[in-house]
Amino acid sequence: MTEAPSAATPATLFIDGAWVPASDGGTRTISCPADGSFVAEVSEGTREDTARAIAAARRAFDGGAWASVPAPQRGDFLLEVAAELRARKDEFARAETLDTGKRLVESEVDMDDIADCFAYFGKLAGQDAGRIVDAGNNSVVSRIVYEPIGVCGLISPWNYPLLQAAWKIAPALGAGCSIVLKPSELTPSTAILMMDVLDTLGLPKGVANLVLGPGAVVGAPLSESPDVDMVSFTGGLETGRTIAAAAAGTVKKVALELGGKNPNIVFADADFDAALDNALNAAFVHSGQVCSAGARLLVEEPIAERFVDEFVRRARQIRLGGPFDEAAETGPLISAAHRDKVTAYVEKGVAEGARLRCGGTWGEGDLVSGFYYTPTVLDQVTRGSSVLVEEAFGPVVTVETFNGEDEAVELGNDTHYGLAGAVWSQDAGRGQRVAARLRHGTIWINDFHPYLPQAEWGGFKHSGTGRELGPTGFAEYQEAKHIYHNIDPAVTGWFAARTEE
Ligand code: NAD
Repeated sequence: MTEAPSAATPATLFIDGAWVPASDGGTRTISCPADGSFVAEVSEGTREDTARAIAAARRAFDGGAWASVPAPQRGDFLLEVAAELRARKDEFARAETLDTGKRLVESEVDMDDIADCFAYFGKLAGQDAGRIVDAGNNSVVSRIVYEPIGVCGLISPWNYPLLQAAWKIAPALGAGCSIVLKPSELTPSTAILMMDVLDTLGLPKGVANLVLGPGAVVGAPLSESPDVDMVSFTGGLETGRTIAAAAAGTVKKVALELGGKNPNIVFADADFDAALDNALNAAFVHSGQVCSAGARLLVEEPIAERFVDEFVRRARQIRLGGPFDEAAETGPLISAAHRDKVTAYVEKGVAEGARLRCGGTWGEGDLVSGFYYTPTVLDQVTRGSSVLVEEAFGPVVTVETFNGEDEAVELGNDTHYGLAGAVWSQDAGRGQRVAARLRHGTIWINDFHPYLPQAEWGGFKHSGTGRELGPTGFAEYQEAKHIYHNIDPAVTGWFAARTEE
């Protein structure tokens, strides 16, 4: 077992079972988006570091030190990880909060969810017994075995740094794969702690590796390398396209969890107060930096004016603040660059004709040293306007109105994304009918945001390929092999046996 790294010694790449500095000595300073305060100094890796991590993962996989461990034991290991995460929850939550600027209480919830994710895949891995197939022939034993896909490059974003990584790490290790994890360069701290947990609990060396640094430098080799069998990526659409194109030459499996432009559809017969309260959560939790954020609010005409007025009134009241400010209801954006991007979307939307109902400003007073952006509502948005079509990934909601189910479905599907959506109605039949017609990977009826580790998560259309969580999210990391055993071999006679002429 190696020592966990400290901020003073930025040897924070974990390669082949050892904490090492970047090959060129590079470092990066991580600052808290809430106030710019120093968080950590970490290694900034190079392409060579990723190549060494891939080579270590390949050796570990081919050597079978983990892949050949019986599945129930791998499952037990994941259960131990879950227990360790629960025991170290405070440390992990604090690290996540300092990197992202999100409220501590949100990070605490995330850490519980991450432990649940490991526990779920631990139990699932333990049940992985393959299956027998009836070949229709008593002299044949035919079975399907599920084998680990091999070396997996896992690339994750900054909004839910460890949660998004855990959705990949847990099933990959449960299936018997070796991994190279590449978290967002902005939020590496909990990935470092995660490697410490895996190492402390005795995962064989080389099975889990960590590289840190910008995607184009340390992430790109994961897509390009012939020694990587699968890349699982969560992040933006354009990066997903780049990764898929780079991976094509090696014909590796690519799983993509991309963005969303998620409709939150409120019918006139909805429970008004519940729909209103949840519309605020849908849009403004984590300042809207959520792939499934309800960034498009669709309200049925008869209640639209009252609902939207109340929504705007409540949005104005939302308290912004730092991670440890107990009065704060939501926090900052991740970076100055990201805040500039959100600002530009809103300004362009207004220039294209949208009406700014509230927000559209940066944090003032005590908040000027962080990347705060006030909850923003736009209505009368011009069809085709980029703020309506593209993911702003901030606390920005566009309002549209509709009449009846057909128009709700038409608007709800009027996006190139297809990640998630919600329907609010007290008519259960309407909820089910509309849910069936929406082309998104998750539909909530009279709720918003909950997800379950046992339920698949992923996108239709440009929101991605493949699924995370649930049995399908486990199967992503497996190859199905058919073993057909003829226990009574016989001559087929297909080609006649002739005596040589
Ligand atoms: P991003 O695409 O900028 O970066 C994601 C990761 O990819 C980072 O680790 C980054 O360093 C890396 N990367 C960048 N270029 C790369 C390259 N050429 N090769 C390999 N790796 C590369 O995304 P982000 O800004 O970190 O995250 C926000 C995005 O993530 C949003 O679009 C959001 O919707 C999406 N997201 C989706 C889900 C989901 O479940 N579908 C969940 C969370 C976030």
